[in-house]
Amino acid sequence: MRGIGPSAVNAAKTSCNLGHPLTDGNLIHRKDGSKTCWTCHRAYMRGWNKENRAKINVYRKRWLDRHPGKMAEMNKKYSGRHKKYRAKKREEARDEFGT
Ligand SMILES: [Zn+2]
Repeated sequence: MRGIGPSAVNAAKTSCNLGHPLTDGNLIHRKDGSKTCWTCHRAYMRGWNKENRAKINVYRKRWLDRHPGKMAEMNKKYSGRHKKYRAKKREEARDEFGT
């Protein structure tokens, strides 16, 4: 993109307002075409979750009431998945450092 319009200026940006690089693993493309830095988004979501804990719990409770038994089903389906992921990561780290 070229020119001096806002979208052109934003497309040319290589770092966010706080200086995080807008590179592949750290970049969110929004539906409206704008870009967001993952590092900032994560920090923002962490703060939002903290502030809205009560609201989230209400939604969560409502969902659980509407889907009886669903949580148990999902826990069964996905259990051990994170453990497998950690094991894989550990394996990779071991390979990398050759120990
Ligand atoms: Zn950032």
